[in-house]
Amino acid sequence: MLKVGVLALQGSVSEHIDMLNRIENVCPVEVKTSEQINEVDALILPGGESTTIGKLLVDFSLHDLLKKRIINGMPVWGTCAGMILLAKKLLPEAHTHLEVMDICVKRNAYGSQACSFETAAFIPSISPKPISLAFIRAPYIESVGKQVEILCTVDNNIVAARENNMLATSFHPEVTDDESVHRYFVRMIEQL
Ligand code: GLN
Repeated sequence: MLKVGVLALQGSVSEHIDMLNRIENVCPVEVKTSEQINEVDALILPGGESTTIGKLLVDFSLHDLLKKRIINGMPVWGTCAGMILLAKKLLPEAHTHLEVMDICVKRNAYGSQACSFETAAFIPSISPKPISLAFIRAPYIESVGKQVEILCTVDNNIVAARENNMLATSFHPEVTDDESVHRYFVRMIEQL
């Protein structure tokens, strides 16, 4: 069984756990402590409020350990706020968090909560069918480094990307009824 954690400090935790429960050979766990960070095979950083999650990572002394595990190759997937936590650069220029993924992320890129929207996209590496994408006060990726593979763009903005063991999506697959991106992440864990 793969032990896939969901960082459970703030944000859409239970939705990710529910999705992981739909996948064979996966044991989902909520992660709140350094022991749990050390125990999981992979980790999802959920959507929520990146400033809050980033502060809690520091307050609970999880930041350095988590960064080290990611640098050492633990598979990680950041959705929305989670993507902001992974980014090496943020726009507008702001305090960065884990600084592990070579992406420059624009926060609240689509405007306020009222500008949240849903669309669909065909992402060949993730699913043979178009999947629905939910954007909730979402960021997008302005630019990526050479090692980063762009997986999906919407209106010319990058909304999904991968760099080795790190996956980032602007959107929230955990609030749709389609577990394709979760299955892609599990395949990624198995292949790394
Ligand atoms: N706008 C939020 C932030 O900056 C992210 C929104 C989300 O995760 N749905 O943290």
